[in-house]
Amino acid sequence: MEARSLLIVGGGITGLTAALRLSADRNFSVTLVESSDHLGGLAAGFPLCGTSLERTYHHLFLTDTAILDLVTELGLKEKLIWCDSSMGIFRNGKIHPFRTPQDLLRFPPCSLAGRLRTGLAALYLKYQKNWRGLTRQTAHAWMTRACGTSAMESIWTPLLKGKFDRHFDRVSMAWLWARIHIRANSRSGGGGEKLGYFRGGFNVVTAAVEKQLRENGVAIRTGAVVEQFSATERTVVVNGQSVPFDFCVFTGPSPAFARLLPAQESLKPYAVKLQSIDYLGAVCLVFTSDQSLGDIYWVNVNEPGAPFLVFIQHTNLVDKSCYGGKHVYYVGAYLPPDGERYTLSDEALTKLWFGYLPKLFPGFDAARVEEKHIFRFRAAQHIVDTDYEKKIPEYRTPLPGVFLANFSQIFPEDRGTNFAVREGIKIAGLILGDLRR
Ligand SMILES: Cc1cc2nc3c(=O)[nH]c(=O)nc-3n(C[C@H](O)[C@H](O)[C@H](O)COP(=O)(O)OP(=O)(O)OC[C@H]3O[C@@H](n4cnc5c(N)ncnc54)[C@H](O)[C@@H]3O)c2cc1C
Repeated sequence: MEARSLLIVGGGITGLTAALRLSADRNFSVTLVESSDHLGGLAAGFPLCGTSLERTYHHLFLTDTAILDLVTELGLKEKLIWCDSSMGIFRNGKIHPFRTPQDLLRFPPCSLAGRLRTGLAALYLKYQKNWRGLTRQTAHAWMTRACGTSAMESIWTPLLKGKFDRHFDRVSMAWLWARIHIRANSRSGGGGEKLGYFRGGFNVVTAAVEKQLRENGVAIRTGAVVEQFSATERTVVVNGQSVPFDFCVFTGPSPAFARLLPAQESLKPYAVKLQSIDYLGAVCLVFTSDQSLGDIYWVNVNEPGAPFLVFIQHTNLVDKSCYGGKHVYYVGAYLPPDGERYTLSDEALTKLWFGYLPKLFPGFDAARVEEKHIFRFRAAQHIVDTDYEKKIPEYRTPLPGVFLANFSQIFPEDRGTNFAVREGIKIAGLILGDLRR
C-alpha cells in the first residue's frame, strides 16, 4: 500500500506524541508543522544557566502514568528525579506553610471550623471516585457548602480566581475534584508529596521525541503557520502554500481551529461550538538571583488585590547546582488575553510584580536579579464550566480526514503533559483504526 500523507499541526506534547506513534507505522509519511520557532508548546524550554528550563513552571505527579510510560520507552527514566514538594499560602501579609494536614489545622487566616471542614472535604474528595455527580455543580458553591465562608475567603476563592479570573464561579466541581483527588494520591506511601522533574528540563523529552521522529523520517517544519482548510479537497494552506494530506491532526486551541475552517454555512454550528470554549492566557516572569527567598517551592498568593497568582522557587524543588548555583524563580498569572494586564509592557509588568514581591519577602532585592525573561501564552487554560461536557469537541471533525486533539478535550482532569501524551496516543489509535478499516 502506498504511504498515506499525514499532517500534524502543532509541535506541543500532543502533536509530538501523535507523530511518534503514527510515524512508527510504515503506512504513513508524516509532516509536523509548528507555528513558533521551537517544539514543546506550553511545555517548551529555553536556555538558562547552561541548561533548559520551561517557560512556564512544570513538574509531574506520581499518577502521571502516560508520560511516565513514554519516558521509560524513550530510555529517559534515569533523567527523571522525584523531589520533595513544599507549598505555602500568602495571606494576611505572611506566607503560611500549607503542605501537610497539620499545616491546614494551624492555618491562622481561616477559622477553626473552616479548617476542620476543609480537612474533611479534602478527605472526602481524595476517596470519592465518582465525579460525574459533581459536573453540574460549581466548585465555588460546592466548596462554600462544604467548607464555609472563612475557608472560601482565605483558601478557595482566591485559588479559583487566580486560575480562572472572572470565570471563577462558573467552574465545575468535577474539575476541582480531579485536582484534589490526583494531588492527594500523588504521595509516596505515607510520605509527603513527590513531584517529578527532569535533569535538563522537560526539553529532554521533547528532544528525544524529535530525534526519534527524524529517525522515523518525519519532516518537521517550525515557523510554519496553518492558515486555512479547504472546503473542497484535503488540503490546507501553510505559510501561503497549499499542502495536501490524507489525514490531518490539529492540536492547537479549539477556537483557533474554528477560525481555520472554510466559510461554509453547514460548518457554522460546529464553529460556534468550538468558539464557546473560553480560554485564559498565562504570563510567566522567570528570573535568576543569588538571593534565596525562603525554603518553600510553591507559594499561592491568596491576598486580595495581589497582581499574580503564584510565586515559585524552582530551585527549592531542583537543586541550584543544576543552574550554576543560581536561584531560579517563576512569578505567574492567568489573565484574559485581550485584557489590560496581559498586554502590559514587559517594563510595566516587571515594575508591578517586583514592586509587590517585598510584601512576600521583605528582603527581596531587585538589584540582585540577574537574568529575567517574560513569556506570554494566549491560550493557556480553558474554562471548564458546569456545561463543559456538552462543549467538548469530538476527535473527528466535519472535515474529511481531519482530526482535532487538544487539551480542551481533557475533562475532568486539569490539562497537563501527561494527558497530552494520553490524547496523542488516543488520536493515533483512531487514525490507525481508520486506515485498517
Ligand atoms: C502556566 C502553566 C503551567 C503548567 N504546569 C504544568 C505542570 O506542572 N505539569 C504538566 O504536566 N503540565 C503543565 N502545564 C500544562 C501543559 O504544558 C500542557 O497541558 C501541554 O503542554 C499541552 O500540550 P499540547 O500539545 O496539547 O498543547 P500546546 O502545548 O498548546 O501545543 C499546541 C501547539 O500547536 C501550535 N499551533 C497552534 N496553532 C497552530 C497553527 N495554526 N499552525 C501551526 N501550529 C499551531 C502551537 O504553537 C503549539 O506549539 C502547564 C501549563 C501552563 C500554561
